[in-house]
Amino acid sequence: MKTVFEKIRDREIPATFRYEDEALMAFDDIHPKAPVHVLIVPKKRIVSIATMADGEEVLVGKMFRVARDLARDLNISEKGYKLVIHVGEGGGQEVPHLHLHLMGG
Ligand code: AMP
Repeated sequence: MKTVFEKIRDREIPATFRYEDEALMAFDDIHPKAPVHVLIVPKKRIVSIATMADGEEVLVGKMFRVARDLARDLNISEKGYKLVIHVGEGGGQEVPHLHLHLMGG
């Protein structure tokens, strides 16, 4: 079964996109915990940092580069922001599809 983020990727449910390329997408969190709250998500489903394969750190690194650029574009870079990845149920992860929270503003 598809995760909610795969459904967003496939345009089966709507989202406000902030960034997209062949490997990554970024869209507004539906329940924002800060004035700017964007999720940066690999299009390919990686469940979590705990289960990512060796080699996927390149994609994970790119998630942080996209976060840096989005923070600049959304004018939260100068003041500062928070980047969070929940890992597994005990780490507060609700959606089993790796994502980086960018929060600020
Ligand atoms: P996590 O607890 O790290 O798994 O975070 C999952 C995040 O996904 C939460 O902040 C939710 O608000 C967000 N979320 C769930 N469904 C959607 C959706 N349809 N569109 C955008 N964000 C969503």
